[in-house]
Amino acid sequence: GGIILSYVDDVIETIIEQNPSEPEFHQAVREVLESLRVVIEENEEEFKKNALLERLTNPERQFKFRVPWVDDNGQVQVNTGYRVQFNSAIGPYKGGLRFHPSVNLGIIKFLGFEQIFKNSLTGLPIGGGKGGSDFDPKGKSDREIMAFCQSFMTELCKYIGADTDVPAGDIGVGGREIGFLFGQYKRIRGLYEGVLTGKGLTFGGSLARTEATGYGLLYFTNAMLKANDIDIAGKTIAVSGAGNVAIYAIEKAQQLGGKPVTCSDSTGWIYDPEGIDVELLKEVKEVRRERLTAYAEARESAEYHEGKGVWTIKCDIALPCATQNELLLDDAKALVKNGVLAVAEGANMPTSIEATEYLQENDVLFAPGKASNAGGVATSALEMSQNSQRLSWTFEEVDSKLQAIMENIFANAAAAAKEYGMDKNYVAGANIAGFQKVVEAMNAQGI
Ligand code: GLU
Repeated sequence: GGIILSYVDDVIETIIEQNPSEPEFHQAVREVLESLRVVIEENEEEFKKNALLERLTNPERQFKFRVPWVDDNGQVQVNTGYRVQFNSAIGPYKGGLRFHPSVNLGIIKFLGFEQIFKNSLTGLPIGGGKGGSDFDPKGKSDREIMAFCQSFMTELCKYIGADTDVPAGDIGVGGREIGFLFGQYKRIRGLYEGVLTGKGLTFGGSLARTEATGYGLLYFTNAMLKANDIDIAGKTIAVSGAGNVAIYAIEKAQQLGGKPVTCSDSTGWIYDPEGIDVELLKEVKEVRRERLTAYAEARESAEYHEGKGVWTIKCDIALPCATQNELLLDDAKALVKNGVLAVAEGANMPTSIEATEYLQENDVLFAPGKASNAGGVATSALEMSQNSQRLSWTFEEVDSKLQAIMENIFANAAAAAKEYGMDKNYVAGANIAGFQKVVEAMNAQGI
């Protein structure tokens, strides 16, 4: 005994104790609270009395459910489904669904926790939530995907609604899955409402939603580079991932004059010194749903490597767009050694805390995902607006709103960092700016 912990340390310790075996959730809470330390210490007595941090780090509600479905051999399979409704201070719960074998409660809680601050940063009225399943869509037939989605929604539909909780896609959940999920919600609840975002364009989806996370990442990155007198034109860019975020990050990077030369999937990675052929990448991943080996087979200039490795390529800008903890300390060291100028996260928490600190200590500009990948959920909120109006806006209208939102997020994060004496620390700036709005709303609404 004898050691008196600060409020922040105390809450972090309690979270770890009360939520064993959830390392990603601990990591997300630690990262946010550590960078909020200055703000929290300013208000320590008041926050403590209101148990503000305890309320912020405990989900309002969490659901865990059985998802039985029949595979193509007639065998019944059982997966686990989750929905965590983390914080509704500023709007209905909003956040994606992830279908991936690594999904467990801790993963969904880390994603839901991040989502609170991300959604706050967009400036739009959306609270934080997340869901998913340990179901593995890889290698499944269309009918198996449909059977799983219908069973998943048969339970999930009890907890969601256009004004309460609005899920969307994440890893393993794209347009096809959202269509199956929406159909089942409508069938059971009899409501034609904007209960999901990322819908198809023929049934209430928004133009530019598919592109939004990747495009938004580049709008944010470009704003950050400009503020630091760096021109993106001609810069070599290393991208990880080959899903929805990576594909449209590569597309927008090229439109802005940058040169993305890598991408990766769960089995290997591509180095294409001529620059990634984004149309070929779309064909392989979105249409044929094949591995990146098919990209290498179709393109002379591309090298395929097994395993991990995109961060060993010399680049000016790195965009981790695959998954959590994919850029670790050794990767950060390799990037710095090769002269990287900026790292901007397209995925959620792709960079470990140690790697982030190393990059920042070495004067690499660092854009945290909760700010730089907020374009996806921001455009989801625009889809909700269009659904409420029963109108649909043009691509240009949505895209220009998206660009304005991303530039505004950058400006707010940069200003908050500066105000608290941490100029150019966009990690702290994003956390502070996102946190302040949520706290104000929570305080106003009482206990
Ligand atoms: N899954 C995305 C995210 O991590 C989008 C969520 C949404 O559109 O609701 O923010």
